[in-house]
Amino acid sequence: MKLKRVTLLGATGSIGSSALDVIARHPERYEVFALTAHRQTDVLFGLCKRHLPRFAVVRDAASATRLREQLKQASIATEVLHGSEGLEAVAEMAEVDCVLAAIVGAAGLMPTLAAVKAGKQVLLANKESLVMAGQLFMAEVQRSGTVLLPIDSEHNAIYQSITRHVPGTLSDCGVRKIILTASGGPFRNTPTQDLAAVTPEQACAHPNWSMGRKISVDSATLMNKGLEVIEARWLFDLPPDKIDVVVHPQSVIHSMVEYIDGSTLAQLGNPDMRTPIAYALAYPERIDAGVKPLDLFEVAQLTFEQPDRARFPSLDLAYAALRSGGTASTILNAANEVAVEAFLSGKLMFLNIADVIAETLQKAGSVSADSLEAVLDADRHGRAVASDIVNRHSC
Ligand code: NAD
Ligand code: MG
Repeated sequence: MKLKRVTLLGATGSIGSSALDVIARHPERYEVFALTAHRQTDVLFGLCKRHLPRFAVVRDAASATRLREQLKQASIATEVLHGSEGLEAVAEMAEVDCVLAAIVGAAGLMPTLAAVKAGKQVLLANKESLVMAGQLFMAEVQRSGTVLLPIDSEHNAIYQSITRHVPGTLSDCGVRKIILTASGGPFRNTPTQDLAAVTPEQACAHPNWSMGRKISVDSATLMNKGLEVIEARWLFDLPPDKIDVVVHPQSVIHSMVEYIDGSTLAQLGNPDMRTPIAYALAYPERIDAGVKPLDLFEVAQLTFEQPDRARFPSLDLAYAALRSGGTASTILNAANEVAVEAFLSGKLMFLNIADVIAETLQKAGSVSADSLEAVLDADRHGRAVASDIVNRHSC
């Protein structure tokens, strides 16, 4: 079997460690080619010792010098690069077969796009790439013929539930709509007046999934589902009114596809990101992911609720940005990143996250998103506008 050489962007994160767990179970299939990290250089050093990648990428020259020294002392031959050039280099090098995009936030866009342009197989966890620049991103996927496989559990479930027995669009295949499931997050039953005082620790304590801090807050505001609606629009080329959201607190059904003949297909499993990661890594084969089989008797009940759009206005902000088109989604993403960061560092109240995003969308104004410059400009502008608003709200 030919070894698949994998670049893992964002190796020190939650998705990164789940991916390395799956990869380590199949040394006959995968070789870790490159690992990247932003701040956690010591954690990256530990991963280099364990997985012996050819390249490691860190944030800046000073961190690179430190890591090089550590590697030298441990007699490890990993070469160290740094900065955005380093990230893009390991995403597009000729030896790489597959790039797993697991950097969080807008920082993931450029290296992921570099992998797409280079025609690598791309396993996408970094949903923000598609939220920021979906139109451009998918145009590059078309142009380069790259194989793009979603790792986000909902999109992976939909991918698995689409039966393409005829060529053409999803409508041609009889798809009426897709239904994204949402756990409802840690505040599903918290009254609005109590939401005012919630802390970052409470927001990051997700009932079903263990994830990085930014996506945990996104899950608590339901913005994560909003970002996923936009992600689905681009991945599956569906208009917003064919993408529904249902709250399903058990997180066992990872999403569904409804067909015109009355069939609804779903993918089920324990909430463990190693399942979608293994699916994407091995596609079209299947491999062991180390995930416990689903025990239906233990699950016992699957329940469904409407999302509470009044308590969690971020979901509708995302639909509105998607409907208005152009760089509105880029601005939504930028404002969300600024607001979540401010919340995590104690500068903004939980309930003000959605206010900051709504006001930024009103003030920033959107333009056509058909060039990378327009997208990057909108991202910068959205951040500047949102930061001003955060400063006004600062607690
Ligand atoms: P995380 O915070 O645990 O890890 C983020 C990784 O990105 C780390 O390796 C970090 O070093 C790197 N990083 C952060 N900022 C960077 C920057 N400016 N430049 C370069 N690298 C940077 O995040 P996570 O939970 O693993 O999520 C990663 C991505 O996967 C996000 O886009 C998230 O939405 C998506 N995702 C995560 C999950 C999950 O279960 N964690 C599920 C679905 C999708
Ligand atoms: Mg998801």
